[in-house]
Amino acid sequence: EAKNRGRSRIRVFHQYMEQAVKERHTLETDIHQALKNDDIKLVYQPIVTFSENNCNGWEALARWQHPKRGLLMPDTFIPIIEQSSLMPEFGYWVFERVCQTIQQHHTSHSGQSFYISANLSVSQLKDRRFIDNISRLINQYAIKPGMLELEITESIAMYESKQAADILNQLKLMGIRIAIDDFGTGYSSFTQLKQLPIDKIKIDQSFIEDVPNNTEHTAMIKSIIAMARAIQLDVVAEGVETRSQYEFLQSLDCDFYQGFYFAKPSSQLRFKS
Ligand code: C2E
Ligand code: MG
Ligand code: MG
Ligand code: MG
Repeated sequence: EAKNRGRSRIRVFHQYMEQAVKERHTLETDIHQALKNDDIKLVYQPIVTFSENNCNGWEALARWQHPKRGLLMPDTFIPIIEQSSLMPEFGYWVFERVCQTIQQHHTSHSGQSFYISANLSVSQLKDRRFIDNISRLINQYAIKPGMLELEITESIAMYESKQAADILNQLKLMGIRIAIDDFGTGYSSFTQLKQLPIDKIKIDQSFIEDVPNNTEHTAMIKSIIAMARAIQLDVVAEGVETRSQYEFLQSLDCDFYQGFYFAKPSSQLRFKS
């Protein structure tokens, strides 16, 4: 009886695994097609300045309008891309789109300073052609210093610290600003941070979620901001959803805010249309 139950559980497990492998395989072929068909697109979420009524930066976030599955969020397909061999192609596509958008916006809003930030993945950091590709795009789309920012998660920056430092230094030389994403989740030290050529840290949304009520998170945010001040880094709070979160963060002099309280990601570069 128990044995039978065990066996059937194993069978269910095998079916489940087979299904998962199949799904992964179809997603991989789909992604290639989706990039060609423009089913994958970028949306842009405003990054708002301290005073709330201003925004001069946007983060580019990927969305996939899948013909059968509907709208897919990046958490469902980025890990698959990352584990397949498709990341160089996908990453290049993202950066090229971002550069095109910068060029268009610069042309239609001449004189206004702005930037777009894009997320960098770990395999891009390890791709030998990455720096060449970026510098080609910068030239091709006449991207000026400060118009392009790249986000790298804290855990990638720390785990791959030697490689990261090398690549980030080269990006810096091209006038690209660097932000550390999901900050607070990766156990980095002050010393490690100081060794990287970064401009900004983005406090992970899991810390913002329950402030000002959660005293531990409140203390953490305070110390992150104090540390950032000490080494002249800008601070962005991610996932700001309520007025009270915003007011609390403002009381700590947080520089930038990103979240549904201000704006959801949209296909246009806009703020308070
Ligand atoms: P991330 O870089 O930390 O991006 C912020 C995520 O928080 C986005 O989720 C954004 O839509 C969401 N968000 C912003 N404000 C709020 C808020 O007030 N409340 C809540 N609950 N969520 C908010 P999204 O677009 O689903 O992206 C998830 C992650 O996928 C990103 O996290 C990033 O790590 C990754 N990702 C997205 N696009 C790309 C890409 O083009 N390339 C790479 N390598 N990764 C990407
Ligand atoms: Mg990001
Ligand atoms: Mg983030
Ligand atoms: Mg995040």
